[in-house]
Amino acid sequence: MSTARTFRGGIHPVGYKELTSGKAIVTMPAPAEVTVLLKQHVGAPCKPLVKKGDVVNKGQKIGDSDEFISAPVHAPVSGVVKAIQPCKDPSGSIVQAVVIENDGEERLDPSIEPHPDLDQLDAETIKSIVREAGIVGLGGATFPTHVKLSPPPDKKIETLIVNGCECEPYLTCDHRLMVEQPERVVFGTRAMMKALGIKQAYIGIEDNKPDAIAALNKATADYPDIEVVPLKYKYPQGCERQLITAITGKQVPANGLPMDIGIVVNNVETAAAVQTAIETGMPLIERVVTVSGEGVKNPQNLLVRIGTPIGEAIEAAGGFNGSPKQVIIGGPLTGVTQSDLSVPVTKCNTGILVFNELKKPNKPEPCIRCGRCVDVCPAFLLPVTLANLSDIGQFDKAVEMGLLSCVECGSCSYVCPAHRFLLQSIQLAKQEVEAKSYKKTS
Ligand code: SF4
Ligand code: SF4
Repeated sequence: MSTARTFRGGIHPVGYKELTSGKAIVTMPAPAEVTVLLKQHVGAPCKPLVKKGDVVNKGQKIGDSDEFISAPVHAPVSGVVKAIQPCKDPSGSIVQAVVIENDGEERLDPSIEPHPDLDQLDAETIKSIVREAGIVGLGGATFPTHVKLSPPPDKKIETLIVNGCECEPYLTCDHRLMVEQPERVVFGTRAMMKALGIKQAYIGIEDNKPDAIAALNKATADYPDIEVVPLKYKYPQGCERQLITAITGKQVPANGLPMDIGIVVNNVETAAAVQTAIETGMPLIERVVTVSGEGVKNPQNLLVRIGTPIGEAIEAAGGFNGSPKQVIIGGPLTGVTQSDLSVPVTKCNTGILVFNELKKPNKPEPCIRCGRCVDVCPAFLLPVTLANLSDIGQFDKAVEMGLLSCVECGSCSYVCPAHRFLLQSIQLAKQEVEAKSYKKTS
């Protein structure tokens, strides 16, 4: 029996990780055209800094915002701006985007400036580099990283947790990054510790990735203030609240944030992006994406330019294997089904999954009151009650029942024998509540 640390609740879905977990990251050639969304993060959208017809360089900033909670976007290729136009994002929302025709020259922007010696950088300089590089939470949350590294003065941060759990089935992009480039994760971790002014960090990794644990143990050997913590393989081990509880034993307050208990959490690929921004000067213009599922001929972990159409990434993994019934961006539990293969890869795009049968059934049946959704909820909620309240528009009552503690892991929907859309109903209620609270404060 595993003695690794964990949390209460959760589920054990079949992982299907073996499709790609042993495959080295392959760099996908840059596409002929990229579509860079001007909102790929939590917070204010960017305004375009370029116009149609402009010639842009690889790594050039092409969108930014004056708001603190936001992150700039950059040209992933050199080329010509073909259009600034509304485009569909992976969630189905329409956002403005910069479309760039790739000239194939890979002409670097002169603003790119390496800072190879971390010891020479102070905390403010690190935060500024991270902000200017457009780095956001690459595990899928997309919260701007420079904001996480700048807590309010009354929040004393003592601990950084770097999240290497990658607990959702099929996804292996973080796993491969940890195995192949552990020194990048460690450099980024050290940089974030310096930015936060702290002396303690943990890298949490599920125990189904012993090669990643070994690689990080070796890479941290000279840094005793960074501890690699093996965690039990269980979903949703990678959700912030569950990860914090498993590693520190502390609980984030119901309507609070990790910083309320002195903790900041960032994903391993975010740490690697921080390393790249500092050591090479290159902003966030590419990421590792797992392209997998039985509907793909040659499942792969691909290093993909932001803005690449997802259909081209599927082609780079050998194309469709049979007749696809469902394409999902993200993992099978929390991801979003796509109907359009021209949707671009964004900063939060951990996976592109193709299935020849529906992974997410679309015909819910009446609740049979089995209680399974309650048993698995890692936030100790009553998912069926929250979903029912959402369905009848009783959002305030849902808040009283703990709605805002939901980590949107989808475990409840996964185990529901009636295939009820529990997660979707709960997400809808959370969005309504957040929109209402925004209206009150604006
Ligand atoms: S209610 Fe939220 S936290 Fe609980 S299982 Fe469902 S999605 Fe996860
Ligand atoms: S798991 Fe599904 S069927 Fe069972 S109580 Fe929850 S909502 Fe009802």
